[in-house]
Amino acid sequence: MYDITTVREDFPILSRQIYNRPLVYLDNGATTQKPRCVVEAMVDEYYNVNANVHRGVHFLSQQATDLHEASRETVRAFINARSVNEVLFTRGTTESINLLAFSFGEAFVHEGDEIVVSTMEHHSDIVPWQMLCQRKGAKLRVIPMSDDGVLDLEAYSSLLNERTRIVCCAHVSNVLGTVNPVGEVIARAHTMNIPVLIDGAQSTPHFAVDMQALDCDFFAFSGHKIYGPTGVGVLYGKEDWLDRLPPYQGGGEMIKNVSFENTTYNTLPYKFEAGTPDYVATHALAKALDYVTALGMDNIFRHEQELTRYAMTQMSRIDGMRIFGPSDNHDAVISFLVGDIHHLDMGTLLDRLGIAVRTGHHCAEPLMRRLGIEGTVRASFGLYNTLEEVDALVEGIERVVKMF
Ligand code: PMP
Repeated sequence: MYDITTVREDFPILSRQIYNRPLVYLDNGATTQKPRCVVEAMVDEYYNVNANVHRGVHFLSQQATDLHEASRETVRAFINARSVNEVLFTRGTTESINLLAFSFGEAFVHEGDEIVVSTMEHHSDIVPWQMLCQRKGAKLRVIPMSDDGVLDLEAYSSLLNERTRIVCCAHVSNVLGTVNPVGEVIARAHTMNIPVLIDGAQSTPHFAVDMQALDCDFFAFSGHKIYGPTGVGVLYGKEDWLDRLPPYQGGGEMIKNVSFENTTYNTLPYKFEAGTPDYVATHALAKALDYVTALGMDNIFRHEQELTRYAMTQMSRIDGMRIFGPSDNHDAVISFLVGDIHHLDMGTLLDRLGIAVRTGHHCAEPLMRRLGIEGTVRASFGLYNTLEEVDALVEGIERVVKMF
């Protein structure tokens, strides 16, 4: 059903040697490798179709536009949004959140208002809100968490009040692997008519997401973390919210009519898509979504859960091992430290064994402060990783431990 050997053949980079050892790529939380179908779609479009979208009457422009808009429909179906009007193409999660923070902030945030974020947010779901707070004289409130990285929902409820304008929460922590109870987060905010943004950068690649079931108001994710190209991402927003938000950037495409006296804006989704979009990347993103859909998001989830559970069991046998995050509801991201070995030393020595992991604060400095550490080593799995690669990681860690 899920033939890992065949799957790996779709990713040419996985057969590379690093320092004369087979590459063990465990930095999927940062970015994923690309299957042939994604790269080939890009090459094919540049060689055979390329023309600017939405503007030309000529054949190629029509064809490029059709591919670009068909990709929007692929994204809509993938996240089960109600309409393509709810799917905005951006450069990635970061731009999606900046768009929302600016636009939502312009319309709905005033002095004395409050924005709620969680302790475990990525900087890209903190800083845009902080910048908004500075512009508007609003205040950032933070949902606390337990030592093992579980959000305190009671404390969360007590943060919500009539000044709360929006709640912003990661679906899955890029550091701890915590799968947050976003259904509960959303439901509690909605009882007070507060909209919720879910940062789906680390959930979308690992399990099926459904906008209508989740009922979030906004959702952001990046193409490159789900086997698609860099430079493209998505902001989903409920249509009635997006209709009420002002544009983020001005320029071509986002207008209906322009005069020096008065400019009117385009309809959704174009109101938020000023300038030439990366239409080659949107097409390739659709190919990536088709690819994971054909494998089956449930199969991918099961496979990565097996890797995660196996890795956590094997790693916890190592003396001095400290794994961060909860033991349940833990997605395919494992952050760890061993004894007093510095995360950078561990990462550098693993690299010499061909094992690519990430080290540092993972763009989550407030979370590091909460945990009382400077950084971690992070191994994150993708759909093509194997149990043998987990063994290589565990053996690698043991070798590094012996060296110290
Ligand atoms: N949020 C989370 C949870 C992430 O893991 C990341 C990427 N590490 C981002 C946001 C930012 O994504 P991007 O750099 O693709 O904009």
